[in-house]
Order: sequence, then structure tokens, then C-alpha cells
Amino acid sequence: SKANAHNGYRVYQEQMSEGFSAYLTLGGGLRKAIEEGQFELYYQPKIRSSDEVTVGAEALIRWHHPEKGMIPPDQFIPVAEESGLILPLGEWVIRKACEQLKTWQDQGLPPINLSVNLSGRQFLQPDLVEVVQQILLETGIDPNLLELELTESMLMSDAHGTIKKLHDFREMGITLSIDDFGTGYSSLAYLKKFPIQALKIDRSFIQDLGIDGDDDAIVKATIAMAQSLNLKVIAEGVESRQQMNLLTDYECQEVQGYLFAKPMCCDDFEKYLETFTQI
Ligand code: C2E
Ligand code: CA
Ligand code: CA
Ligand code: CA
Repeated sequence: SKANAHNGYRVYQEQMSEGFSAYLTLGGGLRKAIEEGQFELYYQPKIRSSDEVTVGAEALIRWHHPEKGMIPPDQFIPVAEESGLILPLGEWVIRKACEQLKTWQDQGLPPINLSVNLSGRQFLQPDLVEVVQQILLETGIDPNLLELELTESMLMSDAHGTIKKLHDFREMGITLSIDDFGTGYSSLAYLKKFPIQALKIDRSFIQDLGIDGDDDAIVKATIAMAQSLNLKVIAEGVESRQQMNLLTDYECQEVQGYLFAKPMCCDDFEKYLETFTQI
């Protein structure tokens, strides 16, 4: 009826404006948060399947909002992208990650590989390669320890500029991986075209391993394809021993997930490293 349609419209409008004002508030807060240093990196271990040794970590950003508490990245990264603040924020993440690698090296901790997520707009930034190069020079870390996680959609636009950037990173010694593999509009052709070293199979395919036969087939086939292209495979979001056993059977080289460890603050991660890494 008309009345219902009207109510429906009003509800919709209210949700819209609530969402929009939350969005504006977050956006305004973001600028201040960057200035005031309200961000922190958490670290989630990457585990080698064959012996379950920790060989790396992924840096994941956290925002400690003075009133709202911890805001998850899924909520503010899109806002930062939209407003362009992802550029200073993304640069902060890369610098912080490299400084941390340097600190761990100085502390004599075993060398681990650290990966950083790039966002779409950040990847399109024309001077991204120079920014990363500068951070490597400033921190003096071994570029082989730094990995950049890209998504399929980043690789789909502007193929020429993309290939040049990826080759520049490779020449610097940085490792490149594709995050959330299988969820984007992927063309498998880019695996041949781009200098990529690793694929991270998205958690949505891992969740129902052993339950949904289609997921088993997809994961198995992805690993087989990656092996024949000489790409390393990392499974994301491994939560159960059953999933782990299947992934080991399928010869997936590395895993990340709550079965082993959640993302941890730096202090906790250092304690974890002292206990769980042997190289
Ligand atoms: P992502 O890169 O796919 O990161 C993996 C996400 O899965 C992380 O969420 C991690 O905490 C979560 N996770 C790991 N293991 C498990 C598991 O076993 N079960 C479940 N349910 N979840 C697991 P988080 O930290 O909330 O990050 C969400 C997304 O935000 C990331 O997804 C990434 O796309 C983005 N993000 C995080 N940090 C950054 C950053 O520094 N820069 C950019 N551009 N994006 C970031
Ligand atoms: Ca990632
Ligand atoms: Ca991912
Ligand atoms: Ca994701």
C-alpha cells in the first residue's frame, strides 16, 4: 500500500542519513587521528604448514578512537579511501611496518617476513614506488623481508602503469602477493603477466573446507595451479584442525588463522615470536 511504501521510504531515508553522518564523523575523526597518532599495527603470524613454524606476519591496522574505542579497518579504510586520507595513512602503515622490522632485527629476533596491505587508491598513487624506496632507505631494512599484498581489482585497471610498478617493486627486492584470491573479477591471465610470488586464498573458501565439496575442489585446484606457476599459496582464516589437515594434504605452503593466532599488538607478538619461532 501507499502508506507502507511511504514508511519504507522514510526508514530507508533515515538509515541513509544515519549512515551518512556516521561516515562524515569518521572522516573528520580520521584526519585528527592521523595527526594525533591514534593508529596501531597488529601482527598476525603466518605459519609454514610442513612444520608449523612461524615464518612471517601480516600487519593489520587498528584505530583506537578516543570515544568509540577500537574501530575495525573494514569500517574506516573505505572512508580513508574515499577522502584520500588513505595516502598519508597508507604511508604511515608502510613506515611503521618497516621500522618494526628494523626493531626486531636490532633485538636479535629471527628474521621474519612482514606483509602490508595496500589499498586501491594507494596503489594508483603515482609516486608510490618512490615513497616505498624512501622508507626502505630511511629504515635500512632488508627489502626481501617486506611483502606487499595487492588485490585482484588493483591489477585489473591501468595495466601498463601496474606492470611497471610491480617490476619496480620486484627490482627493489620486495615480495608481491595477491590478497583475497578468488573473490575479485579475476582473469587468470594476469598471473602470467604480472611478477607475483604468492596467492592468498580468501577465507570464504577455507571456512567450509571438508563440508562443502565445491570449496575443496576450488582450493585444491588453486593450489595445483599455483604450484605449476611457481607461486606460493597461503590460506587465510584457518580456524580448525580439520581445515589445517586438509590444507596440508593439498600441500598449501603457509596458513594464517585463529587456529594458530589472532592478530596481536606488538608486545604480544614479540613474546609470541620468542616462543614460537625457530629457524
Ligand atoms: P585482510 O587483508 O583479508 O586481512 C585478514 C582479516 O581476517 C583480518 O581482519 C584478520 O584479523 C582476519 N582473520 C585472520 N584470521 C582469521 C580467522 O581465522 N578467522 C576470522 N574470522 N578472521 C580472521 P582485520 O584485521 O579486521 O582486517 C580487515 C581488512 O581490513 C583486511 O582484510 C584488509 O583488507 C583491511 N586492512 C587491514 N589493515 C590494513 C592496512 O593497513 N591497509 C589497508 N589498505 N587495508 C587494511
Ligand atoms: Ca591482507
Ligand atoms: Ca585477505
Ligand atoms: Ca579481506
